[in-house]
Amino acid sequence: MMNTEPLRHWFLAEKRDLPWRNTRDPYAIWISEVMLQQTQVSVVRPYYLRWIEQFPTIKDLAAAPLEAVIKCWEGLGYYSRARNLHAGAQYVVEHYNGQLPNKEEDLSKIKGLGPYTIGAILSFAFHQKKAAVDGNVIRVLARFFQIKEDIGKSTTLKSMRVLAEKILPNEEPWIISEALIELGATVCQRKARCHQCPLKTDCKGYINGLIDQLPVKSKKIKTEYLYRAVAILHHNGLLLVKKGEKGKVMSDLYEFPFFEVTENGITSGKFSEKIEQNFSIAITQATPLSSVTHSFTRYQARLDPVLFHCNKMFAVKTMEWLPLAELQKKAFSSGHRRILQQLLT
Ligand code: SF4
Repeated sequence: MMNTEPLRHWFLAEKRDLPWRNTRDPYAIWISEVMLQQTQVSVVRPYYLRWIEQFPTIKDLAAAPLEAVIKCWEGLGYYSRARNLHAGAQYVVEHYNGQLPNKEEDLSKIKGLGPYTIGAILSFAFHQKKAAVDGNVIRVLARFFQIKEDIGKSTTLKSMRVLAEKILPNEEPWIISEALIELGATVCQRKARCHQCPLKTDCKGYINGLIDQLPVKSKKIKTEYLYRAVAILHHNGLLLVKKGEKGKVMSDLYEFPFFEVTENGITSGKFSEKIEQNFSIAITQATPLSSVTHSFTRYQARLDPVLFHCNKMFAVKTMEWLPLAELQKKAFSSGHRRILQQLLT
C-alpha cells in the first residue's frame, strides 16, 4: 500500500490557493470540477469566478436561459459540459429542491455527472471517504504501483478507482483524495519531477526507472485537420451568421458561414465567385483577414476568413443578419470569436 503521510504533509504545505478550495459548497465544487475537465487551472479560474457571480446557486443556474449559460461558458470548449450543467441544475431543483444530494446513486442520475465528479463532490464537499480519480490520479497510481495494464480499458480504470479508495486513510480522507490530484497536476506530470515528490522513496515506477513508460495507454485519438474558408458577409452594417444546430458539435454557438477547403485554401477571387454563385449576389469588395486556428474535440481547424462587402442583403434559411454590437453579446465558437475580434479592431 501507500504511506500517505508524506503526501499529506506535502499537500498541506504546497497546495495551490485555488478559489474552489476555499469552499465546501457542493454546487461550487461541482462547477469547478466540470470546468477543470479538459481545461487548465489558469484558464478555469476567471471563468469559475464569473460563473459563481452570475449563477450563485443551483436555482439561479436552473432559472437562467440556456443562451446566457452558453455565453458564460464561451471560450472554454466542450460546450456539452455547460448544457449538462444547466440541465443538471434543473433536475436538482425539480427533485432535490436545489440542493445537491450526498449519495452516489442519487448524484449519478444527474446529467453530466460521471464517477470523477461524483467522487470529487462526495469527498471535497461532503467529506466522505471517496476518491476522485482523474487523469492526474491515474498517472500517479500507475507509476507508484507500477501498473502496466492499459488505462484505455474500462476494467483498468475500474480497478484503479478501487485502489484509489483503498489508499485513503480513515482520518480526513478528503485531504489525500485532493493531494493525489494535486501531485499529478504539479509534480507527477507527463514529465515527472520525481526529485520534488513526497512519494519517491516508495514509488515503484521511479525506483525501477519506468516512469516514462507509465501509464500505458493504447487507444490514442487521432487529431483530424480541417481547413475552412470563412465568409464574413457584410451589408449596410449587418453581418450574416448562423447558430449551431442542436445536437451538433457547435450547438448553440454562433459562427460565420464557411466552406470546407483543402490545406492549400482558396484565393479570395475564387472565394468571391463561389459566394456570388451560392447566394446570387455581387461582391463589391473582398478583404482577406488573418487566419486563425482552433481546436475542438478531436479536430484542429484552420480558418481563413475573408470580409466580403455585398451589394444587397438576402435571406438564408437558418442564418440571420445582425449588427456588430448585437454579435458581441452572442456566444461564438472560439475560432469565430477571434475572427469577430479582428473585425472589432
Ligand atoms: S516519484 Fe515520480 S513517478 Fe513516482 S509518484 Fe512521484 S513524481 Fe510520480
